Amino acid sequence: MKKIWLVIPCYNEEEVLGETSRQLKEIMNGMIQKGKISEECRIVFVNDGSKDKTWSIIQKLHEEDQLFAGINLSKNRGHQNALLAGLLTTKDYADAVISLDADLQDDVGVIEKFIDEFQNGYDVVYGVRSSRKTDTFFKRFTAESYYKLMKALGVNIVFNHADYRLMSKRALDGLEEFEERNLFLRGIIPLIGYPSTTVEYERHERFAGESKYPLKKMLKFAFDGITSFSIKPIRMILNLGVIMFLVSIAMMIWSLVDKASGNTVAGWTSLMVSIWMIGGLQLISIGFVGEYIGKIYEETKKRPRFIVESFLRK
Ligand code: UDP
Ligand code: MG
Repeated sequence: MKKIWLVIPCYNEEEVLGETSRQLKEIMNGMIQKGKISEECRIVFVNDGSKDKTWSIIQKLHEEDQLFAGINLSKNRGHQNALLAGLLTTKDYADAVISLDADLQDDVGVIEKFIDEFQNGYDVVYGVRSSRKTDTFFKRFTAESYYKLMKALGVNIVFNHADYRLMSKRALDGLEEFEERNLFLRGIIPLIGYPSTTVEYERHERFAGESKYPLKKMLKFAFDGITSFSIKPIRMILNLGVIMFLVSIAMMIWSLVDKASGNTVAGWTSLMVSIWMIGGLQLISIGFVGEYIGKIYEETKKRPRFIVESFLRK
């Protein structure tokens, strides 16, 4: 029987923890009784430096029932870091870890499906939102454009998947190899490899409280996602520079022809040509510098160059 652990990052979630813990306990105990999962399963709440009673609620849950465990971070480090802390701290106790939000937006009813897929041999099971009915038009539109943009930039992310997923122990070992600080987990996880699949679910409204991702944090996260995974924006500078330079050559020819016809003001030709040409050359230079910065950036991330799945030998 598999040891399945749940990891739930919590930041100021006192209003939802009671209900979340109740629902999760029911589901886990149900599966333990059915003999589907081991008794050594745990529900781990990661307190991400909350300012409210979140941690004391977690402590109380743990005292009353050993099914609940808690991790307390020294200060607020943000959702992605709190999630990573939970995953890496628990992975050595579990066969697989499922991450979900504290606010019951992720449908807890599909946890069992995640486990079924894990037992079918998948190392990563991505929860995918089947509809975004509960999201505002603005959120839906920005999210969809964002996925499209990421795809255009050559970043492989699973469409409509947030951080609701199951990962096997060996996939988590792979995750540990990624040492980067600017975390964008949904971009990293497809890079780990191993067999993966998706499970659809309905995203609900937040059970209580407010989103801990105000627009500002959301934009930063989205920007991090792009700049941590793609140096294409730098390459765009170089391309723009080349285009500007070619335009400057065309301008030169045109203004020389114009000058020959004698209907230009003195100085116009040289001014036009130099503005365009210098502009183009400067952009090309910045683009080149950027290429090297991009290389340095990729090196400093120290991403694993490979993860060995198996080594056949006698
Ligand atoms: N969260 C966290 N640290 C933070 C912000 C959020 O651990 O600094 C947690 C939060 O408690 C929740 C999850 O991350 O369990 C997702 O946050 P939220 O539901 O507010 O985001 P939204 O669903 O609105 O995008
Ligand atoms: Mg939420």
